Parts: sequence; C-alpha cells; structure tokens
Amino acid sequence: MKRYEKLDKRLALAAFLLLVSVMALDVLTQLHLKEKHLLEQRDDLFLKLGSLRHLVEKELTANLLLIQGTANFIVATDNLTDDNFDKYAREALRGNNEIKNLVAAPDFVIRYVYPLKGNEAVLGKNYKDLPNQWGLVQKAYETGSLVVAGPLKLIQGGTGLIGRAPVFIGQGDEKKFWGIVSGVIDMDHLFRSIKATSQSAGITIAIRGRDGRGLSGDVFLGDESLFTAEEQSVLMPVVFPTGSWVIAALPQKGWDHAPPLSWIFHLVYLLMGVGVTISVSHALKRNMALQTTQELLNEAQHVARLGNWKLDTQTGIFWWSKEFYAILGVDESITRPTLDMFFECIHPDDRETVRTAYERFIATGESRGFDCRIVRQDGTIRYIHAANSRFAGEGKQALAFGTIQDITARKVMEDALVAEQDKFKAMADASYDAFIMIDSRDTILFWSAAAERLFRWTSEEALGQKMHKLIVPPQYHDDAMNGLEKFKHTGTGMVMNSVMEFRALRRDGTTFPVERSVSAFKRGDEYYAVGNLRDITERKFAEEKLERMATTDGLTGLTNRARFLEIAAQELERSKRYNHPLSLTMLDADKFKNVNDTYGHDAGDAVLVNIAETAKRTLRETDTLARIGGEEFVVLMPETEEGMAMQVAERLREAIENQEVVSADGRIIRYTVSAGVTAMRTDDTSIGSILKRADNALYTAKSAGRNRVCKAD
Ligand code: GH3
Ligand code: MG
Ligand code: MG
Repeated sequence: MKRYEKLDKRLALAAFLLLVSVMALDVLTQLHLKEKHLLEQRDDLFLKLGSLRHLVEKELTANLLLIQGTANFIVATDNLTDDNFDKYAREALRGNNEIKNLVAAPDFVIRYVYPLKGNEAVLGKNYKDLPNQWGLVQKAYETGSLVVAGPLKLIQGGTGLIGRAPVFIGQGDEKKFWGIVSGVIDMDHLFRSIKATSQSAGITIAIRGRDGRGLSGDVFLGDESLFTAEEQSVLMPVVFPTGSWVIAALPQKGWDHAPPLSWIFHLVYLLMGVGVTISVSHALKRNMALQTTQELLNEAQHVARLGNWKLDTQTGIFWWSKEFYAILGVDESITRPTLDMFFECIHPDDRETVRTAYERFIATGESRGFDCRIVRQDGTIRYIHAANSRFAGEGKQALAFGTIQDITARKVMEDALVAEQDKFKAMADASYDAFIMIDSRDTILFWSAAAERLFRWTSEEALGQKMHKLIVPPQYHDDAMNGLEKFKHTGTGMVMNSVMEFRALRRDGTTFPVERSVSAFKRGDEYYAVGNLRDITERKFAEEKLERMATTDGLTGLTNRARFLEIAAQELERSKRYNHPLSLTMLDADKFKNVNDTYGHDAGDAVLVNIAETAKRTLRETDTLARIGGEEFVVLMPETEEGMAMQVAERLREAIENQEVVSADGRIIRYTVSAGVTAMRTDDTSIGSILKRADNALYTAKSAGRNRVCKAD
C-alpha cells in the first residue's frame, strides 16, 4: 500500500512540475513572440525611416552643396561683382525652389544678395552686429567649414535652415579669409514632404538636432516626447555635410504588443496542460484501481493463507507477495529476498526434497505440488503446500511463478482425524457388535470387522455398496427404501434411536435374527446413520426354548396343563359367544402303575408318547390335545356336539387298544385307556366345571371296568 502512496505522490509531483513547465513555456513563448513582434515592427519602421532619411539627406545635401558651391564660385572668381554674383546665383538656383536667397558677406558685412528684391534691408549689415547669427557665423569662420543654423522662423515668414560657408582665398600660407556665404533653405516644403511621407507610412515622427547638432540639438519637428526612453522610439540619424539630425519614429498607433496568432500558442500549451492533467489523473485512477486490486489480492491471500512468488531465473531477482512473507514469518522489510533465504526457511529434514523439486521444475518446467514443513523465525513449525504454478519463457526471459499455502490447520485437523479414526476403528473392530455407517443415499461408508464376520462381506467389498441390497432380505426392500427417503430429508425415521429386531441377510442368502440400534448425525447438508447390529440367533433360540418349555409337555411335546387351560378358556368364551358347541374328552391310562412296574419307567414313558402320537393321528387339526397329568390327557373339540365327541373318543380308545409298544428288552406292551366325555352346557362359566364333569364321566368308565368311554350325566 505504501508503495502506491509513494507512487501517487511522485505522480502528483510530476504532474505539478509538468504543469508549471507548460505554464513557464507559455509565458516564455509569449515573451519571445512579443519581442519578435516588436523587433519586426522596429525593422519595418527602420525600413520606412530609411526612405524618409534618404529624402531629408538628399534635400539638405543638395541645397547645402549649392551654398558651398557659391563659396567655391567666389574663390574661383578674381573679380567679384554684383553682376557676376547675380548671374551665378540665378544660374545656380534655376529649378531650385528650396533656397530662398544667397548672401555673400566679405569680412562679415553683407555685400551681395540674391535675389535683391525684397532683401534690400540686409545689405550692409555686419554679422558681428547680429547677435542671433554671429555665433554660427563665427563657428563657420573658425572651423573653416560649412555650418547650418536652424531650422528657425524666418523674418520673411515660414521656417528656414541657414547654411553658412566660409570663403578662403589663396593656397597654403597665402590663404586668407574672404568672408561668409549664406543661403536660406526653405524648410516648410521639406517638412510637408516629411509629414506626408510619414503619414502615408503610418508612422509618427519627431526630429531634433537644431543647428545640425544631432541628439544634443533641440527638437524642431514633431512631439518632443518621442525622444523619451519610455516611448521606445526608433531613432535614425540624418547626416548631411555639416551636421546631423536625429529622427525619432513610432508607429502611428503605438507599438502593437499583441503578436498575431499568439493565441495559437496559448491554445497549444493549454491543450498540453489539459493533456498532462488528464493523463496524470488517468494514471492516478489506474494506480488507484491497481492499488484496490492489490489490496483485495493481499486480503484474499491473507484469508486463504496463500502467498505467491515470482523469480527471474536470469537475474535471480525473487519477488514475494505480502502473505508469502507472513507465512514464512520473514520480515517484510527484506526487499531483496533470495532463493537461499527461502530454502533456509524449509525444515532441515524436508530441505533436500524441496530443493530437488525446485531444480526439476526449473530444468523441465514440470510443476508438481508438494507438502513440506517450514521453521519460522520464532521457531514454530508449520506445514505448507507449495506449488510451482508456471514457467514462462526461455533463456533471458525465463520467469518462474509459484505459490505456497499454509496448511497447518488442515494438517493438524487431518492428523487428529486420522488418530480419531484409528481409535474409532480399533474400538469398532474390537466390538462384538457390527458397526455400519451409511450416508442418506444408503451408501456404505464404514463396515467394521464384526460386520465382516456377521454378513461375510469384507470391508473392501461392502464399502460403496447400497446397504439394503447387502443385508436386508428382498421382502423388506420397499420398507427400507421408504425409510431411507424420509431419512434423507429429515434425518429421522422409524428405525432411528430405537432398538429393534429384524432378520438380516447373509452373503449366502440365509437370514438370521439381528438386534439393531440406529442413530443419525448431520454433517454439512447431509445426514448419516450409524447402525449397531448384534446377532441374536442364540438368544432367540433360548427364548423360544423357554417359551416351549413353559407351554408344552417335555415328554410328549403336547400342550401342557397350564397352556391348555388358557386355550380352553379362550375356546369356551368364543363358543359361548357364538353359541357354538364345544366338547371335552378326558383320557386316563388304565392300570398304568402295572406298566411301569412290569416294563420299567422308560417303557411307561414310551407308552405315554405312543398315546400322544396315536391321539394326534386320530384327532382333527382344530382339536387341542394336552397332557394334563402323569398319564392323563385331555382333548378339547370346538364345533363338536357331545354325540360326535363320544364317537371320536371311542375311535381313539379303539386305536389305542390296538397299539403295540416294544419295550427296551424287546417285550411287546399292550395297554388301554378309559375316557370321559362331556359337552359345554349353558350354565358352564369356567372350564373347571366342564373338566369336573369329564373327570366324573372318566371315573364312571373306570368303575365300569376300564377300556371304555362314558359320557357325563
Ligand atoms: P387306574 O387309573 O386304572 O385306576 O389305575 P392306575 O395304576 O393307572 O392308577 P393311578 O392313577 O393311581 O396310577 C398312576 C400311575 O401312573 C402312577 C405313576 O407311577 C404312573 N405314572 C404317572 N406319570 C408317569 C410318567 O410320566 N411316566 C411313567 N412311566 N409312569 C407314570
Ligand atoms: Mg391316573
Ligand atoms: Mg390310570
């Protein structure tokens, strides 16, 4: 996160500097443009001034040379007269409108004037007496060269420039001052020309340099202020033979400070600024998105306890994610992790394996995950799962990628689970009872050793099979499936949390009684059931035996007295309710003591068994035959009238009379029985009264001589 903040700051700073640079560039460009524009204007002004200067110089020089020429004429003329002066002047000034007059003053006294007309007043005047003019006259004399005076207002009106040329006669040492020649040049004409020219050129001008003194001379044309520094006027000297003027010029509208098309540069820089701002804000946004993504990734890695790495195999530059550091317990401030540093973290026992795996990965690109232990800096040991996910590029571009995940929690849980399972399995295996676990789809998930013994399927065969197919007899399949369907959705069912008995199926198809208790549990969304099954064959057998013993006679297998009384009571009630007939016959072996005494007790037993079997053969299914005493039997005959009962008893007596039982020592035993018969009467409320009557009838039969059947009174 810090990395991105730093990056953001750097980006913002860069953007700020770029914007300042763009602004500075704009300002500089504008300054440069202005300067260039100004220079262009000055150049233009200069060119225009050039022609003005040419005009002025040509005009002045021509006229001044004419004045000088007059001086030369005097030098060259031996005998100067009014006449030849006049002649010369007229000739010289032909076609010249600028020079108003020419004056020659030998020894400073005006002697010759052209034209004389209108200028008579100046004749005879001595320059020394004219203080206004004497200064420059004297200067011409002293310097020996042409001087100019003015421009100045002329007495005759208008403005004029006076040129004065000294005249020296003779050569070398004989050179001698003759006098002064002066000429008045009309400035009005020149000034008008200058004004017209400058106006048409669009410039304002001013000229200084009165008396030909250049910059130090007064301003005589135009606005004096043009010469002040602020105006930044363009200055141009005008040089003529005896001095100079300076023309100052400005564009008529002043300097144009707005260079043409400068807005284009503003626009370009504005666009640049906008561009910079947009691209930086985009970069910032991207950066922010990247930062968010990175944070999410870090968070996800933290939650998953998963770190990743990247390695440039050429430079050896190894990069670890935040969680990678966290898992290894290495300080994140180590910004240049190395491969050795990673191997150092691996548990010494696992290090060689990890190194080999890594080297194979680099050599072949083959990535295979593996688990190993790490030792963190605080000494704790943790389990990681390492996976070399990818190997990209070859040679110089070779990059390797991979992940590690902290699986300690899972490992600890797995170990605990394995230990738990071992414990449970040992317990289940040691148990006499079978343990079977199924899921809600009836699939067998656990099959204990006892289950193997009981059902004869091995655990290997049973796991994954449907339980009901394996151990539930086919006739119960529908019930089992219905129960499972309910269990699947509710985790409950008929068999749950109860102890029940059922017949289970063995591998060989036989069935056996089983006591089972089932309990359920839920893991995730699914229900599971654990059944505890116990083979109860022997118990069942014992129970049945007890039952048998309680209700039957051990010697003959006939119903015993107690059971008979129960059955008889039920039959009596039923017969009374439906008003059906019911008869009862009581039998007693005759002189049975003698049998015992003659053939032995065992032979007596054999006879008793013989009676039972003979009676069973003779009687109907619905009749109940019971042994109710030592050698006393009783037959209960539902739906039987007394007459019919008498016939049955008689038939039975006869059958027994014809029996022969062989004793152990081979002797033939013959015996007889007596019988008493009675039928149910309306006043019979219990079986006891019926039995009593039958017994009385039996007694009658005994008394009457035995081996006979009597009916009750
Ligand atoms: P009667 O009924 O004809 O008057 O003469 P009896 O000899 O049968 O008379 P009694 O009823 O007094 O004797 C019955 C004898 O039956 C007595 C007993 O030794 C014998 N007896 C009873 N139960 C058994 C038995 O389970 N096995 C054998 N072998 N003898 C039995
Ligand atoms: Mg008896
Ligand atoms: Mg008897």
